[in-house]
Amino acid sequence: MHKPVPDSHSSDGHLPRYFDYLVVGGGSGGLASARRAAELGARTAVVESSKLGGTCVNVGCVPKKIMWNAAIHSEYIHDHEDYGFETSAIKFTWKVIKEKRDAYVSRLNDIYQNNLQKAQIEIIRGQANFTSDSEPTVEVNGQKYIAPHILIATGGKPSMPSDAEVPGASLGITSDGFFQLTDLPRRSVVVGAGYIAIEIAGILSALGSKASLLIRQDKVLRTFDSMISSNCTEELENAGVEVWKYAQVKSVKKSATGLEINVQCSMPGRKPTVRTIQDVDCLLWAIGRDPNTEDLGLENLGLELDEKGHIVVDEFQNTSRKGVYAVGDVCGRALLTPVAIAAGRKLSHRLFEGQEDSKLDYDNIPTVVFSHPPIGTVGLTEEEAVTAKGRENVKVYTTSFSPMYHAVTRRKTKCVMKLVCVGKEEKVVGLHMQGLGCDEMLQGFSVAIKMGATKKDFDNTVAIHPTSSEELVTLR
Ligand SMILES: Cc1cc2nc3c(=O)[nH]c(=O)nc-3n(C[C@H](O)[C@H](O)[C@H](O)COP(=O)(O)OP(=O)(O)OC[C@H]3O[C@@H](n4cnc5c(N)ncnc54)[C@H](O)[C@@H]3O)c2cc1C
Repeated sequence: MHKPVPDSHSSDGHLPRYFDYLVVGGGSGGLASARRAAELGARTAVVESSKLGGTCVNVGCVPKKIMWNAAIHSEYIHDHEDYGFETSAIKFTWKVIKEKRDAYVSRLNDIYQNNLQKAQIEIIRGQANFTSDSEPTVEVNGQKYIAPHILIATGGKPSMPSDAEVPGASLGITSDGFFQLTDLPRRSVVVGAGYIAIEIAGILSALGSKASLLIRQDKVLRTFDSMISSNCTEELENAGVEVWKYAQVKSVKKSATGLEINVQCSMPGRKPTVRTIQDVDCLLWAIGRDPNTEDLGLENLGLELDEKGHIVVDEFQNTSRKGVYAVGDVCGRALLTPVAIAAGRKLSHRLFEGQEDSKLDYDNIPTVVFSHPPIGTVGLTEEEAVTAKGRENVKVYTTSFSPMYHAVTRRKTKCVMKLVCVGKEEKVVGLHMQGLGCDEMLQGFSVAIKMGATKKDFDNTVAIHPTSSEELVTLR
């Protein structure tokens, strides 16, 4: 351990400054870990190169959910007449919600700053870099910082093809750029089949943009349970998103009326065709995320990275270098805010409270996709359960129905649900659903599954009527 230096405020750039805990990255994982460490008595500093709160607060969960809420309003407006309301001359103005959303995000930035100050955590503004000093040392704006425990929580950024790979690719934006749009695009093209692509295409379409989604295979969300993957693809199409299957962007050009996107469609067994989408005012790449490990000087630490550049950690978030840890998206596993937060807090309890076995259990992490309607999923997919346990040991229960909300509406969405059970006792190892309300339905069921609930436990629970969730305890 370093001896704490009484006045650690040397800033002449020569003497390093010492902390008990140095956190690089003030996003979900970094802030949660720093605050917990400070609560436990560690002298802590957070280095942040951009806005406090990281991806989730600034260009992720928070502004996304606000836009999803706006999109839901738009969908319900279509149903108002069916419920007896007169709704003439309803107009949507993107700028109104953008301004309110930005103001909310700014308030959150301030709240995060105040919370750090209250916890006496020092905020170091600037880009952190690891130096080649013999002990792990971080340099920010020429000042060196040393700590016996250093956390890397630098998150990730959206991937984008280079112009060499796809000529004109840089004429497009990413999810970061989505939150800068000052108007609703009239004609949008989203490339990608993951949850960010689905969510953004759904929001744009619901708010009135003519949206196309370009996917490389025939279904979206291909790592999800096959029922979800198929149903979500159908729901996108039902909602008016034009899904281009087996499609790849070949080139992008600017024209007088917008972007011209050349798309190659290679349906299996057919000759590839190239078609052009004209007059596009928003091309958005949502093709994955890359870890922020490139400009950190990690080579000076000799940290082990995987082939995609994620930091390799063990189950306790230890990197290959003693005293250096990593949590969150930079590790490339379960890229979700609550995962980064939980892993960061668990780490602080281990380092500063002596809880030696404090670590995050990565099993049964519930996830929601804010599609239309939303998806909720936890545990193993049917396919994973069969691979792990054998087909003969897996029993699935499924249902598909039209929620009562749609009894009087012309607009329809489906609700699909699946329980994946294993063994004689039918332990529930997976729950997958898409339908109205599934986003809020999942959390409670996840507790039951985490506790090891069986199908019988579900059956023994009295239903709540009339809801969609009652279907989950009455499956046969
Ligand atoms: C569009 C979108 C929607 C999402 N929606 C959801 C959702 O609904 N639910 C959910 O759970 N998750 C969602 N996520 C994922 C979630 O945002 C991330 O999993 C989460 O933010 C990861 O936290 P983190 O601490 O690992 O990294 P981040 O929150 O990204 O924080 C990393 C921080 O490190 C800083 N940094 C990077 N390099 C340096 C450096 N060298 N020096 C100093 N600072 C540095 C960055 O500026 C950033 O502030 C979404 C993500 C996106 C992009």
